[in-house]
Amino acid sequence: NVPYPQMEQSRLCSRRSTVLGESPLFYEDPVHVVGGESVWLFDSDGQRYLDAYNNVQVVGHTNSAVADAIGGQARKLTTHTRYLHEAPVRLAERLLATMPDKLDRVLFVNSGSEATDVAWRLAKAATGNNGAIVSENAYHGITDAVAEQSSTIWPESFSPEHVETIEPPVDERFHRSNSNSEPVKDMTESLDSLERQGLGTAAFMFDSLFTSDGIYPPDKIQLGKMTDRVREAGGLVIADEVQTGHGRCGSDLWGFQSTDIVPDIVTIGKPMGNGHPVAAVVTQSDIASTLYDQMGFFSTFGGNPVSCAAALAVLDQIQQRDLLTHVSAVGEYLKESLEELAADYELIGEVRQRGLMIGIEIVKDQDSWEPAPRQTTAVVNGLRQRQVLIGSSGKNDNVLKIRPPLIFEKGHVDHLLERLNEVLSEQ
Ligand code: PMP
Repeated sequence: NVPYPQMEQSRLCSRRSTVLGESPLFYEDPVHVVGGESVWLFDSDGQRYLDAYNNVQVVGHTNSAVADAIGGQARKLTTHTRYLHEAPVRLAERLLATMPDKLDRVLFVNSGSEATDVAWRLAKAATGNNGAIVSENAYHGITDAVAEQSSTIWPESFSPEHVETIEPPVDERFHRSNSNSEPVKDMTESLDSLERQGLGTAAFMFDSLFTSDGIYPPDKIQLGKMTDRVREAGGLVIADEVQTGHGRCGSDLWGFQSTDIVPDIVTIGKPMGNGHPVAAVVTQSDIASTLYDQMGFFSTFGGNPVSCAAALAVLDQIQQRDLLTHVSAVGEYLKESLEELAADYELIGEVRQRGLMIGIEIVKDQDSWEPAPRQTTAVVNGLRQRQVLIGSSGKNDNVLKIRPPLIFEKGHVDHLLERLNEVLSEQ
């Protein structure tokens, strides 16, 4: 009963590629979305899809509190950020109250890529060094500087001289196929290599769950040793919370809070405005001032009143609906349900989970643990045909990635598991 206009799918795909080029869409049969509500998306035929792959609309599609905040502020005042306005001050105060004490400054920007780009500039300015260390399959954004630090999108044989990669420090409960890595040693070698090249290390930037590497909740002790080494070498530690922040991990608002690390810089974005573009860099005043001293910092839209209203409404929703507790409970239920299902399928290597970020390693069989990317793609597309949306990640693209809005309920988990069981039984 959803009155959406019909539009012929293939004609729209062809018009899209004519003007937008070949930028990829999810799924072999792309979903033409025209509406959303809570954890559901609606296509142009009025069919509904369970959205289990969305770390933007974390408090639900078309959340009315967020929409009212955006609309209300847009009707009152939209402006650039050179006037005095209370909104960015309130938002910065709210964010800083959730962070470790040493982080006392916020720089507002408009996208995750801008946040990581500014974080990188800060690290270079504060340390005087020029080398970067990221994980083997990192993704940190689209600007020239951070695309060079996004090893997962590097073309074959591309490897910028100033960027070293390390394997994620995987929690010993988890398996990592084809790896005999020693991450702490790896880190020391990377630091030495940057030193030998005369670059030094400006920063180690990591996603707190190593999401694009295949979702690996890190080993706290090893990660701690790695960041200690970075600091001994004069580098800064950047936690990129663009994917893992805003309650994704349950229990805490920020992913790094499940480790003992206090980063020097934290980048946040994606879920921050529940779909409205807003992002930020959180750091220490002495680090922030290096950039101000060198060339100043100003963003026309970064911290504008409408974006801040959206971001404040998201924080309110997370707090008022006690979503951190909710994510911990539903995440645990989802993990347990998946582990039960795994017992029936050779294809499932293991389930890795923190909060509502779940990776399911798909392997050819339990003995070889050989990655099975073809089956992974088949499962993702099979679920899409059954109107359940998930994705995949990892260096072999053999990790099913489940990352629903934070308001996902146990009933939604049951729906997802039923469909997943059907699809797996066909492989
Ligand atoms: N960092 C991480 C960890 C991300 O996942 C992304 C986006 N996938 C970015 C940065 C870049 O964010 P944006 O696409 O908003 O520029």
